[in-house]
Amino acid sequence: MHVVIVGGGIVGMTLAAALATEPQTEVTLCERDVLGGGTTSASAAIFMTQQPRPEASDDAVRKLSWETYGPLVADGALSFEQVGRLTVAETNAYAADLRDAVEPLRELGYDAEWVDADALSKYGVAAADHEGALYTPEEGYFDVDELVEHFAAEARAAGAEIRTDEAVVDVQTDDAGVTAVETESAVVNADAVVNAAGPWATRVNDFVGVRTPLRHTVGPILVVEGADREVPFAVFESKRYVRPVGSDGAYVGKYLTDYADGEVRDPDAPTDVLDDFHDEAEAFLEASVPALTDTTVVDEWVGLRTVTPDGRPVVGESAVPGFYLAVGMSGQGVTLAPAVADVLSAQLTGGDHDLAEPMTPGRF
Ligand SMILES: Cc1cc2nc3c(=O)[nH]c(=O)nc-3n(C[C@H](O)[C@H](O)[C@H](O)COP(=O)(O)OP(=O)(O)OC[C@H]3O[C@@H](n4cnc5c(N)ncnc54)[C@H](O)[C@@H]3O)c2cc1C
Repeated sequence: MHVVIVGGGIVGMTLAAALATEPQTEVTLCERDVLGGGTTSASAAIFMTQQPRPEASDDAVRKLSWETYGPLVADGALSFEQVGRLTVAETNAYAADLRDAVEPLRELGYDAEWVDADALSKYGVAAADHEGALYTPEEGYFDVDELVEHFAAEARAAGAEIRTDEAVVDVQTDDAGVTAVETESAVVNADAVVNAAGPWATRVNDFVGVRTPLRHTVGPILVVEGADREVPFAVFESKRYVRPVGSDGAYVGKYLTDYADGEVRDPDAPTDVLDDFHDEAEAFLEASVPALTDTTVVDEWVGLRTVTPDGRPVVGESAVPGFYLAVGMSGQGVTLAPAVADVLSAQLTGGDHDLAEPMTPGRF
């Protein structure tokens, strides 16, 4: 069985690493540019241990991902800064929701506590205009380059062929399904093809006429330096967030994952951080994260999240036999990638997977 994976971001790489260890499975990954240079390089790389209100199946997917990441963190193969997370309420209604989430989260096995507004300053967040926060100390962030390198090395060691600078320009099919991918320089026979092309996924779907409801949301990040104290990873109700970088810096970003906030964009069109976001970030930091008020922006970029109507990824075989999807990560691809790889590895090798159903392409 020869599987060709299109895309060498975190999703394609974790899949290549998992699949290459399966018996009688040959894996080729084609990346049009460099490994991890797409959305993955734009990521804040937080492992989102939980959502304030996880469904059981979503929680199981995250736990499955951690079954891959956790041992690698424990033995030092991957660095992980466990900084914890504050989910900050700006309205009474959201505060009530978050307070109610503490007990269910504990029942799912997480540390969780409610922090009153007047205790927020302990975490570097202003008390004024905030109604308190849910604190979950287990979350943290990876080094995204290290992640990609690690899984690329695992995949190669298990026998996968990784081709960079090799864009897939078409996928060939016959009546029984996919037969090959065509790259700029070769035709590669394939029993199965996996679309792991991140924000370019719709273009790869077009090669075989598959339709999946995918939109893009714009994710700007400003990197600031010169904070007068360390800041936490904090996600605010208004969808702005800060994530620490070292002891005196931070990412300041916007976390839009709703399908309604999305549109179909050209992922190759250059996108700069808009002046509006600079202004928004300045006002936000002044009001909400005073430790970052007098900082300097030293870097900035924009990444595209690929979002779906229900906020879950689209994973599994499409209507075209042998053409599989690993797309629509909805802003959580770093978190979900190993679980997605597990589900697809089972399916590609003829098995089933308990967690496949909520992510199945057939639900749309
Ligand atoms: C600003 C921002 C912050 C984020 N923060 C987090 C976070 O904290 N935690 C988290 O879990 N997630 C986060 N995410 C989401 C996460 O980064 C993505 O879900 C994840 O990186 C998607 O990985 P991917 O492999 O699917 O896509 P990508 O990394 O985009 O990889 C797709 C690859 O496919 C290649 N490709 C495309 N077309 C072709 C073709 N025709 N032939 C060959 N190759 C092709 C591209 O070059 C690219 O390298 C964030 C996203 C953004 C934008």
